[in-house]
Amino acid sequence: MKMKDEVLIVGAGPAGLGCAVALHACGVRARVLDGAGVGAAFAAWPRQMRLLTPSFHSGNFGCVDLNAVTPDTSPADFLHTQHPDGREYARYLHALAAHYEIEVETPVRVTRVVPLNSGGFSLETSAGMRDARFVIWAAGEFATPDFGGIQGAGLCRHASRVADWDEVAAEGKSFAVVGGYESGIDAAIHLMERGKEVVVLSRGEPWAMDDPDPSRSLSPRTRDRLRAALLEAPGRVRFFKNANITRVERHEEGYRLFNDEGTAFACPTAPLLCTGFHSALEAAPVRGLWEMRDGQPLLSEAADESTLHPGLFYSGPSLRHRGMLFCFIYKFRARFGIVARAIAQRMGLEWEVPLAKWRELGFMLEDLSCCAECQCAVEAEPEVQPEVLPYAAVVAV
Ligand SMILES: Cc1cc2nc3c(=O)[nH]c(=O)nc-3n(C[C@H](O)[C@H](O)[C@H](O)COP(=O)(O)OP(=O)(O)OC[C@H]3O[C@@H](n4cnc5c(N)ncnc54)[C@H](O)[C@@H]3O)c2cc1C
Repeated sequence: MKMKDEVLIVGAGPAGLGCAVALHACGVRARVLDGAGVGAAFAAWPRQMRLLTPSFHSGNFGCVDLNAVTPDTSPADFLHTQHPDGREYARYLHALAAHYEIEVETPVRVTRVVPLNSGGFSLETSAGMRDARFVIWAAGEFATPDFGGIQGAGLCRHASRVADWDEVAAEGKSFAVVGGYESGIDAAIHLMERGKEVVVLSRGEPWAMDDPDPSRSLSPRTRDRLRAALLEAPGRVRFFKNANITRVERHEEGYRLFNDEGTAFACPTAPLLCTGFHSALEAAPVRGLWEMRDGQPLLSEAADESTLHPGLFYSGPSLRHRGMLFCFIYKFRARFGIVARAIAQRMGLEWEVPLAKWRELGFMLEDLSCCAECQCAVEAEPEVQPEVLPYAAVVAV
């Protein structure tokens, strides 16, 4: 059956572009479709937000910049900064797409991916139907915030919808942040720096997690910023653990947040939800196209491919293998070469030599044992933690 395209990639973020360049190395010209443009998710980040992962160029010594999407580029070298903000990182992605002449069609929103009985896929898009033999779903998570199942979440503001922390800070003197992982602490720091009183309410006590996997504990950059804010910021923060917020209501003087036992906490400004994102594999256009195991979408270890519909691949931060979250660029890029190899092989193309550099520099991770063994030889030093109160101690109304 003749397809219009051999390979369609949905999403022109780091995952989609990285896979496109790896395929390009093997002689495959993949077409990338994006509903909003190259690097659109990064361009929509709050103005003050920066990558947590540091950029540093040292490619000659075999250490690729942690935020690079290909083995031979570096955001640090391109942007001359260590922690690019969203707009800067989007510029790096634009430069990459231009340099490798990646064909990006935009704005083209994919609304449904339909596997064909005869093999291949048909894509319903805002620009009509597209057919392809292989599809790489690289649509990211940023467009699908998770509101934490909170009733009345519509009254709140999800942190990913903040354009500028100066504008948020102008709304009042005190704020409630729901969620205590990276984006919750980031929100608290921005508000403290602007002289605000902040209450962080979280299930468990995520800010105190000490785990050798940086996907499960606060990044060094966030810890540095929090320490500095606790010492120097004009504002103040209080941490409340075991706060399972389930409901938010409007109240004449502001808002009320309720936990699962109905204890209410009053806040004068719209609560900030830092409750994460839905998996890209649960997005409507591809829902149901992955086998589910233990409540999680399953991808093949051999090629990050749907086990139900061969030829449909995934690349990006929702990737998981053996319990390991591939949610940073340096993690999910480690599989670009794997996806490219699977497609090149099936097209009968040479991949060994074209992808040699990708394998050598960590962009073609075959041995997933790193997912099971994440230990540092030397134990972490104990750290002084900020004062934390149980939710029951919140001033109830
Ligand atoms: C707030 C936040 C901070 C992060 N900070 C870091 C960090 O410091 N370091 C790090 O390594 N990682 C970080 N990550 C994780 C990861 O880098 C990002 O999630 C990254 O953007 C993932 O790349 P991606 O290409 O999968 O998705 P995205 O960059 O989100 O790109 C997806 C693209 O797909 C397009 N798209 C979506 N749906 C469709 C559709 N249906 N049809 C057509 N196009 C579509 C979008 O317009 C977008 O351009 C962060 C993530 C978030 C959300």
